[in-house]
Amino acid sequence: MGSTLSFPPLTSLNYELDGRQGLGKSMILGKPMERKRLHWTNLLFVSAAHLVAAFAVVYLAVFHFSWWTIGFGAFWGVLCGLSITGGYHRLFSHSAYAASWPLRAFYLAFGAASVQNSALVWAANHRTHHAHSDRDRDPYSIERGFWWAHIGWVVCKSIEAPNRSAVRDLEADPLVRFQHRFYLPLALLFSCIAPAAIGTAWGDPIGALLVAGWLRLVVQWHATFSVNSFAHLIGRQPYERTGTARDSWIVALLTMGEGYHNFHHRFQVDYRNGIRWYHFDPTKWWVWTSARLGLTRKLRRVPAERIKAVRRAVRLQSSP
Ligand SMILES: [Zn+2]
Ligand SMILES: [Zn+2]
Repeated sequence: MGSTLSFPPLTSLNYELDGRQGLGKSMILGKPMERKRLHWTNLLFVSAAHLVAAFAVVYLAVFHFSWWTIGFGAFWGVLCGLSITGGYHRLFSHSAYAASWPLRAFYLAFGAASVQNSALVWAANHRTHHAHSDRDRDPYSIERGFWWAHIGWVVCKSIEAPNRSAVRDLEADPLVRFQHRFYLPLALLFSCIAPAAIGTAWGDPIGALLVAGWLRLVVQWHATFSVNSFAHLIGRQPYERTGTARDSWIVALLTMGEGYHNFHHRFQVDYRNGIRWYHFDPTKWWVWTSARLGLTRKLRRVPAERIKAVRRAVRLQSSP
């Protein structure tokens, strides 16, 4: 299909960032003349999901307000969120720790409910993102513009298919293979059928489906996508300044701790993203607590001296 899409300009944001952060125009807008071929299935699904999510808000506000439904939506959001940050990202993509099979099964079930593809494809894309950061092979390179890094790469045809050779280790896990094979039914089960069934307990299956299923899905998408967009655009760079990844506590608040992205790009194998006690990193707290419960083990941490030395070297390099 030959359709193309031009993303709208963000002139004011561009101006502000150009002045304050020294980022070039192409950082925000992408290459000016670049045309993108649409991925129609993804575009229609993403658009429909946004409409259903908007209707979920109307349903709550006008037709059937329920604290039970709102609370359940938030609870489902936390389960799905942890499955992406603690599961898809820190466990499957980076092997930052080892997890028992019940925890892996939990991550894979609620990761499917997050509708961000199977763990195998997600990890293949993510490992390519780290291996080729900010370059053409990076599937969500910020160099192609804010909109591309945020959601454009989802609704447009990517340059190349996910690199399956990068995830041979994950293919050895039968649970991962099972989730990849049955990804769509699992996504349907845990994002639609289960929430609606549970919602019957307080007489609001439609509300539970709309709020825990669809509204949660869209909010979670934008939270995940903001790591690829905002955390490569806004924030500090204490650990490396050669790439675009940044530490942003605001993105950390939205993403269960994934906003300390400059640290993460420098020390990918560390199960923590926010290393200070006051850093908001609930994913780290979850993995640490799970270790106490016997669900996770072999938590990998970069020694404090090494982190300190890297930080000092970056500071010295950038001082005049
Ligand atoms: Zn990563
Ligand atoms: Zn990144």
